[in-house]
Amino acid sequence: MSHHQLLIIGSGAAGCTAAIYAARAGIQTTMVRGMQPGGQLTITTEVENYPGFAKEIQGPWLMEQMEEQAKNCGAEVISDHIKEANLKATPKTLIGESGTTYTADAVIIATGASAKWLGIPSEEAFNGKGVSACATCDGAFFRNQDIMVVGGGNSAMEEALYLANICKSVTMIHRRDEFRGEMVLRERVKAHEKINILWDTVLEEICGTEGPLGAVTHAKVKNVKSNDITDVPVTGVFIAIGHKPNTDIFKDQLPMDETGYLTLEPGKVTTDIEGVFAAGDVADSVYRQAVTAAGMGCMAALDANRYLENLAHQKEAA
Ligand code: NAP
Repeated sequence: MSHHQLLIIGSGAAGCTAAIYAARAGIQTTMVRGMQPGGQLTITTEVENYPGFAKEIQGPWLMEQMEEQAKNCGAEVISDHIKEANLKATPKTLIGESGTTYTADAVIIATGASAKWLGIPSEEAFNGKGVSACATCDGAFFRNQDIMVVGGGNSAMEEALYLANICKSVTMIHRRDEFRGEMVLRERVKAHEKINILWDTVLEEICGTEGPLGAVTHAKVKNVKSNDITDVPVTGVFIAIGHKPNTDIFKDQLPMDETGYLTLEPGKVTTDIEGVFAAGDVADSVYRQAVTAAGMGCMAALDANRYLENLAHQKEAA
């Protein structure tokens, strides 16, 4: 059992930024790193859109720096994964995979979201070498090239439109014959001269040259009605079949939308439970950028600081 003034769950851009701000404010801050220390940026390669770096940097390197910065500011970083939470208890009580029970006066939830993958072996083999789940992170590496987007929801359509501005052509494949997302996006995608849609089509295999310097050359796709298999020449495949926010342990404690994202008042990072704050992709299904997650982490730390100061005044007065 260990008690902490502020416990941050998750160590991606939101968690690390919250830890930096909270520790600098003099709060005794502990960040529990979670299952994927460093978050989603550790599974991207080059990062060109995080402000402050004129040349491209590596995602894993950026996250190592953020964690080091948090430690240098005075935050304690613990390698554990929170598997249970009772946020309504006083103090707030969390249990780690290690068996440790953590109690805290305030909690910042920065557990992020994980991209969903198809689960085919070639998808994993070419991850980071032509396969990505983030057009804004990796699209620029496919400038003037032929690429493929898999999925038929808002994310897939937004990714296709974003990539169509950069790439030579975009082939969208969707397993049904109708998109699921917003009408305005459907119309834009269908009207775009660089986007070709293959309906009723699934990805069978991503093909190319394997090894450390591997690259994608084409994708094998199957029409689910005719069972015809076709080779589509592409150098990049973007999987956009949705994200899953990491909120399972907060069910029945905090309000969530139908897909599991924590719902917050617009522009705020406070939750329905006093002293519990949320930052980053766990509460953001729209922007989902490292820089927006970092911004929310900063807001959560500033709000946590105010909450902890009030708590201290109340204790003094009692
Ligand atoms: P989504 O709405 O769940 O769509 C996922 C898409 O991927 C669906 O078309 C689905 O096909 C397809 N798919 C899922 N699993 C698949 C598989 N194994 N193989 C092939 N295809 C598969 O996810 P999303 O687009 O990421 O959106 C998530 C939430 O964020 C939604 O509520 C969305 O509205 C919101 N969002 C909003 C905006 C915006 O407002 N601009 C932007 C992005 C996301 P089926 O259609 O056949 O199920």
